[in-house]
Amino acid sequence: MKFIDITGNKYNMLTVLGVSHRKNKKIYWNVRCDCGTEKTVEGAHIKSGKLLSCGCKNHLPKHSMTKTKLFSIWVGMRRRCCNPNTERYGCYGGRGITVCDEWNNKKDGSINFIEWALSNGYKEGLTIERIDVNGNYEPSNCTWATRQEQNRNKRDMAFVEHDGELQLLSDIARSTEISESAIRGRYRAGLRGEELTTDEKYKARGEKHGRAKLKEHEVIEIKERLNNGETYQDIADRFGISKGYVCRIKTGRRWAHIA
Ligand SMILES: [Zn+2]
Repeated sequence: MKFIDITGNKYNMLTVLGVSHRKNKKIYWNVRCDCGTEKTVEGAHIKSGKLLSCGCKNHLPKHSMTKTKLFSIWVGMRRRCCNPNTERYGCYGGRGITVCDEWNNKKDGSINFIEWALSNGYKEGLTIERIDVNGNYEPSNCTWATRQEQNRNKRDMAFVEHDGELQLLSDIARSTEISESAIRGRYRAGLRGEELTTDEKYKARGEKHGRAKLKEHEVIEIKERLNNGETYQDIADRFGISKGYVCRIKTGRRWAHIA
């Protein structure tokens, strides 16, 4: 039989990742289900189109719209946490957020999830929300939210890198004891990373006028270092200012009056 590479093809919920092995003249392929589960299946079986999913869809009643909707919510939840190729994985699985065993289990995880949803306030149009945004998808940490609540939560959810991991502004505020509104203000002003919480870089600390970031003797030193060919980055790091600010000093848009 002629070998046809089906890598990358998608059959129902299954995407082919590549060849796994050959056995008894049959080719077996590694596939990933939309729900995030990976498994190995025989080529003819997947190409027939009869295989719908990794098995996660097997127990689903075919004619219930509500259950079908809940099933796709379940698939989306698992994808965000288990499939690194998903766009938003970085904010979920990439941050260590997982789906509990009861819901993650391939055999009846979707059924457990749907049962939980139906007996815990799910209604058409609601979305699943985690109560603690750093917590996992599990019954004790999940609730159903309206679109309005969802939008409010989304607005509050700006993930930024802080201490080497993606965190919410509200969590950064909590861990640093700087007020959340101050951190939001800094965020809106374009500050990122440790600039969000390092006061020295944010506070005005000039000598003569409040908006200056540097003291005159520092500017003199910066200009000397520029003349000696030191890089913008090194100078920026040394004085705790941005590279752009060093550039503005160099080109005379800032501190032009200092020789
Ligand atoms: Zn699946």
